[in-house]
Amino acid sequence: MNKPEATGAEDSDFNIKNFFASPVRDDSNDRFALLMTEAIKGINSLKPISGNSSAFLGENPELTVTRDKAQKAVLKPEGESFTDVLNHIISTFEGLPNWGHPLNMSNICPQENYGALAASMLTQLFSPNILEAEYAWNTSIAELESSAMLADLAGWDAGKAGGIFTYGGSGCWMYQLKYALSRVLPGSRERGIRTDAKVLCSEQAHYAMLNSTDWTGLGIDNLIKIKTLPDTNTMDIAHLEQVLKDCFDRKIPVASVVCTMASTDACAFDPVQAVRKLLDRYPNDDQYGKTLLYCDAVIGWSWLAFKDYDFAANPQNFPESVLEPAQKNCRAIQEIQYADAFGVDFHKNFSPLVSSVFMYRDRSEFEILLKRESSAYLQERGDYNPHHYTLEVSRSAGGSMAAWATLKFLGARGIRSVLAHGLRNKHYMLQQLEPYPDMTCVNRADHGAVLLLRIYPEDTDAALQYTQELHDEAFRNRLIEHNTFIEKISDRLWKWFREKRQIDGKFTPYLSITKGFRPAMYNLNASDPEAVIYALKVYPVSTYITRADMRHAIRCIRLARNEVVEDLAIQV
Ligand SMILES: *Cc1c(COP(=O)(O)O)cnc(C)c1O
Repeated sequence: MNKPEATGAEDSDFNIKNFFASPVRDDSNDRFALLMTEAIKGINSLKPISGNSSAFLGENPELTVTRDKAQKAVLKPEGESFTDVLNHIISTFEGLPNWGHPLNMSNICPQENYGALAASMLTQLFSPNILEAEYAWNTSIAELESSAMLADLAGWDAGKAGGIFTYGGSGCWMYQLKYALSRVLPGSRERGIRTDAKVLCSEQAHYAMLNSTDWTGLGIDNLIKIKTLPDTNTMDIAHLEQVLKDCFDRKIPVASVVCTMASTDACAFDPVQAVRKLLDRYPNDDQYGKTLLYCDAVIGWSWLAFKDYDFAANPQNFPESVLEPAQKNCRAIQEIQYADAFGVDFHKNFSPLVSSVFMYRDRSEFEILLKRESSAYLQERGDYNPHHYTLEVSRSAGGSMAAWATLKFLGARGIRSVLAHGLRNKHYMLQQLEPYPDMTCVNRADHGAVLLLRIYPEDTDAALQYTQELHDEAFRNRLIEHNTFIEKISDRLWKWFREKRQIDGKFTPYLSITKGFRPAMYNLNASDPEAVIYALKVYPVSTYITRADMRHAIRCIRLARNEVVEDLAIQV
């Protein structure tokens, strides 16, 4: 047999080409596929065999990684075997929250649907880059079609709109601010931001506002927080008008007004149409461009799937407890049609991280405003070359593929089912609270799947106590005392969850806490950082959750409360 021709990749017995994916169909591809099948099985073996298990992967609850130990890492002279590397990767998932687990009721987390999982994993095999047509080729369909579907759902003309996938809901915030500054402060690209343009959003807006005002160089102090209404947590339009009028009178430019759709805890949707009317009434001075109206819809976008649902005929047989809030949320999110731009996260409840898209209604305006000179070494080989106006240069197609697969795989019906499931569960848990007067739900008026609870020592009339703490400054100390009490219960539950504690033969659920669902009524401007409402947060949305899991969560909360009461009694 002839010796194969040297490729120049050999280095005695060390053949570097064996480290890289073969470009042709050969045995090494097949071996890789088999090893990956084994690796997926390996990582799946960290999952428990039944739902009665800890809501984290593997067996070891300890957090073994510390910065101290990790910073001693150095590059070894020789690499490890492929199997060793794979096994090491798999072992790092030990103890990680198992997001779709029925006892994971913690926060707004990425449950991965199979379509999105497959899409994002497969995309990595060939690294399409949605920099421009030449490097993305036909894979750019995922970004283009997902954006078209979302524009259509929003009631926009999909032929005139556009969308760019980016690094998260915070990336979408960054995009809106850049778009707003380019529009409102002409010449700012060349000369920088030299004017204190304002960004208006509600007190309940996501803290991503801090990242983008800081990183754009506009400055955090240029944020103006608009009050929210105490009963709905939505933007107080009267206060917004006051602020807009003041800016108008003093010729201070407003870069953008951000409506949150919906807020993380309260599922509150700001009134976009009313904001649009105010912006028409109080435009920026002639030397500035028009204020941008942005909707942070990263969580709330999915209610658009109810847009064409026949609520009267109710073909999916949803109960009344689902129909009413779903219809309200759907009506609220449809005001997105009045926005100039909105952001969507697919990784809040549907897909793996990161899968977010920044949507804009007028693509010719956006793309011209943000267009920069091109690089000499990129040629246009097709009509879709977003690198001219994107924040990133190289962009993985992984996020858009995951989104596209989610939309195609679930369809409107599947998205509605996921949302209805959360509402149904929240309603069920509310009913299960009825026998317990020492517990009260503090967000009964909300239409989302988040359940916020305050629990007090036994024999307390929780509803009455909470009302006093919320409204009456004379109860400020009690409010703070009970906030600490609730935090202790939350810490206890966390400890039980991580310790794999079983209560009545069932593992402890993974829950969270919010330390600022809203300020007390006498502290509406939140100037007193302590006079705010803490609550245990239960988010029962896993598509695998059972009613027994939800009853169990309530039981665990009560037992944790009892233990905290006992501990406090001992301390006294
Ligand atoms: C999660 C969230 C964000 C931030 O999104 P990331 O994807 O985490 O960057 C922004 N706004 C709202 C309302 C959110 O819930």
